[in-house]
Amino acid sequence: MSTSTTSIPDQKKVGMVSLGCPKALVDSERILTRLRADGYAMSPDYAGADVVLVNTCGFLDSAKEESLQAIGEAIAENGRVIVTGCMGEEADAIRAAHPSVLAVTGAHQYEAVVEAVHEHAPPSQGPYIDLIPQPDVKLTPRHYSYLKISEGCNHSCAFCIIPDLRGKLASRRIDAVLREAEKLVAAGTKELLVISQDTSAYGVDTRHESRNWKGREVRAHMTDLARELGQLDIGGGMPPWVRLHYVYPYPHVDAVIPLMAEGLLTPYLDIPFQHASPKVLKSMKRPANEAKVLERLKNWREICPEIAIRSSFVVGFPGETEDDFRYLLDWLEEAQLDRVGAFRFEPVEGAQANALPDPLPEEVKEERFARVMEVTERISTAKLEAKVGKTIPVIIDEVGAPDEDGDIGATGRSQADAPEIDGAVFLRDASSELKPGAIVSALIEDSDAHDLFGTIV
Ligand code: SF4
Repeated sequence: MSTSTTSIPDQKKVGMVSLGCPKALVDSERILTRLRADGYAMSPDYAGADVVLVNTCGFLDSAKEESLQAIGEAIAENGRVIVTGCMGEEADAIRAAHPSVLAVTGAHQYEAVVEAVHEHAPPSQGPYIDLIPQPDVKLTPRHYSYLKISEGCNHSCAFCIIPDLRGKLASRRIDAVLREAEKLVAAGTKELLVISQDTSAYGVDTRHESRNWKGREVRAHMTDLARELGQLDIGGGMPPWVRLHYVYPYPHVDAVIPLMAEGLLTPYLDIPFQHASPKVLKSMKRPANEAKVLERLKNWREICPEIAIRSSFVVGFPGETEDDFRYLLDWLEEAQLDRVGAFRFEPVEGAQANALPDPLPEEVKEERFARVMEVTERISTAKLEAKVGKTIPVIIDEVGAPDEDGDIGATGRSQADAPEIDGAVFLRDASSELKPGAIVSALIEDSDAHDLFGTIV
């Protein structure tokens, strides 16, 4: 549930359960921001809410199951539930499982979900509410924020139904994105996580339309965006940490690597490769599927040796042979990626991949998953071990309470770690003055397969 804000007598309260990916979290933030501007308060628990919104994820069957469970819990605890988000496209399934939901709206139907809240919990007409300027609602900690640059996607990957759920690529205006980033930084954000379905395609739909930003013409293009974000100031002339997520390796991605070397952009790229075998990638219909990726990774590391590459892979895609899978393992050995997430292929209702021949038995998927994890964990362990003895910047996420010896521990992340998906840096002997969002220098003393351990210097 979301956190609470100051309330005014008779003010209607909305509870929010937000499921799914960072993109869905940004949708939840937008809905709550809009509702707050309409005079609603946020309820931190089910009991205090006049109505509960459940923002669902409908991507995998397991996510749908989780969404249905969350709706069930909200109905049991509160009874007045409005469903929105990706699974909202399947209103019949939701109503079949939970006939008492008040309304069901789909992904991005901000107007519809706000209207449904107005209908089922009409806002009280307080005299001041609309006059009080309020910052946007954020569901992430103050020091990092997701920055969504576009909706939808122009591709048609065989395993994905996002284009059906969220439509074609629709990029936001560059000046609107930069204004939002500037506001977030002014409000204490130290780290911006740029998200979309396909970040490298930003602006393709608007022909990279230029806008005036601080006296300069800036295009709706990933490179311009990265350069401008790197010119924001989080204090002392320091740029925020800026991470690019969901970047497909189109040729123009090469242009952002020098920005990392210059310190304008965090040396981190999240590229969802999904596979390496050309045959499997073709059958997955992946964008920017070209052979020279390994060579480009090498060039990127020459330009910016600190660059951390994160990726995700699917094993057990229909038709994946043992040879295809070995190709992937060999590719991973060569690519030496810093962070890898692996998934066993799972059919998604409505996806083209379901009709492909040669689906693999679960035990083969399981066995390949274990093998891919073994390789990527070994690579990750060696990569993290190589950081022992180095001093690196760490952004603090949490500061603990003193233990019986008065020692305070803190948890943070290096530039190679995005929140929620990557590892952490555990620090001992922290000062009680230390606050989340501080960027400190840490001496790394130890490591394991995923995390680092050290002290602040
Ligand atoms: S690029 Fe492919 S996987 Fe990503 S949203 Fe578009 S269709 Fe889905």
